[in-house]
Amino acid sequence: MKKVFNYQLVFILMGLLFVVGCQNDPEELIEEATTTARVDVKWLASDNHPVVQLLYSRGYEKGTIYETEEHFLAPPDLLYSKDINDYDLSDDGSNAKQAFNTGKLVSLNRMRINVFIDSSVGTNLTTDSVNAIAQLNGINNCALFFVRVFNANQANITIRSDFGAESSNVLGRAGFPSNGRAFNTVTLNVDTLGAYGSTLRRNVVIHELGHCVGLRHTDWSANGEGGAVNIPGTSANDTGSIMWHTARGGGAFSAGDLVAFRALFPRALRIDVVNVIDDYDYGEIYIQDDVFVDVFTNGSYTTSTTLNRNVNVSYRINVQEYNHTSGSYYYNRNRTLTAGSSRYFIDEEEEECSPYQGETCTEEYLEIRLASSIL
Ligand SMILES: [Zn+2]
Repeated sequence: MKKVFNYQLVFILMGLLFVVGCQNDPEELIEEATTTARVDVKWLASDNHPVVQLLYSRGYEKGTIYETEEHFLAPPDLLYSKDINDYDLSDDGSNAKQAFNTGKLVSLNRMRINVFIDSSVGTNLTTDSVNAIAQLNGINNCALFFVRVFNANQANITIRSDFGAESSNVLGRAGFPSNGRAFNTVTLNVDTLGAYGSTLRRNVVIHELGHCVGLRHTDWSANGEGGAVNIPGTSANDTGSIMWHTARGGGAFSAGDLVAFRALFPRALRIDVVNVIDDYDYGEIYIQDDVFVDVFTNGSYTTSTTLNRNVNVSYRINVQEYNHTSGSYYYNRNRTLTAGSSRYFIDEEEEECSPYQGETCTEEYLEIRLASSIL
C-alpha cells in the first residue's frame, strides 16, 4: 500500500476499535447507564443453549458469547436472536455466496426499512443517526430506503442505548438479517461514544445499519470471521471502508462500499396481483390471479425503472384448504429475473371450489421469501 499520510488514514490509525483484542475477560466492568433507569447487563452465555451451540458450530470460540435479556452478543460487534427458530439450520454458515455480506440479505421486496431512534441514545446520537440514514439514502443506484418513524411499533430497526452492557471497546452492535428481513436492533455505547466527534458517531451508526441489512466486515477474513466471500469489485484491504471492523471519522463511504451497496441492493421490487379470471357461476368458485413484480429505483416505490442486474426470487405459494377438509401447506419455488425489464410475471394464484360436488376447496397466496441480486 502506498504510504500516504492523509487525514482519513490518521483517523483509521487513531480510530477506536469497535473491539480491541481481548474480549475474553468475564470480569469486564459494567458501566453505569446514564440515560435511563433500565439496566441491560450482560453475562457469559450458557453453553447449553441451542443458539449458543449453533454459534459454536459456526466458528465462535467458547467463552466469547455473552448474553443480555434480549440477545446473544458475539465478537466483534454482533447481536444474535435468542430464538432458535430465527435460524436456518440447514445453513452451516459456510455456504455464503457473496460479500462482504453473509449471503443473508434483506430481500429486494423489503427495501423500505423503518427506523425508530429511541430517546435512550440522547440528542447527539439521535442527530447522528438521522445523518447516517441520510447518507445511506443518498447512495444513488442503491435501492435501500430508510425511513425514520416516531412510533416504535412501526419499526423494522430500533436504534437504542446499550444500557450500560458494553465495555468501552465496543462502540456499537447489530446483527444480520433473517428470512429476508433486516435485523431489528442497533445498540450504541452511549457513554463511550460521547467522547467522539459527530462524524465518527454517524459512521458507527452507518456501520451497524450495514450489518442489519447483511454486510459483513470488509476485513472479515483477517479477523478470523468465517463464511463470507468478497463482492466482485471490492477489496478486503479497503481500510477506508465503512464496514472495516474499526471505527473512523471522515467521509462515510469508500469507492468499494458504493460498489457493494449497489451490487447487493440494485433495485426495489413490489408485488402486483392482477385478477385474470373471476367466476362464481352456479356456486362454483374459480379465481385466477397473475402475480407480477414491478421494479423501482428504491424502497420509496415512487420511480419505476428497469432491472439492472439479474435477480433470483425465492417465493412460497401458501395453500389453504377448506370445505370438506381444512389445513394449510406450501411449496417453494425459484425464478431468475433477467435484467432489462420493469415488470416480471412470477406465477399464478388460484382459488377453486365446487361446494356441491364435495370437493376440497383451495386458496393460494404467493409470498416472496427472498429476492437477491446475482453477483
Ligand atoms: Zn461491525
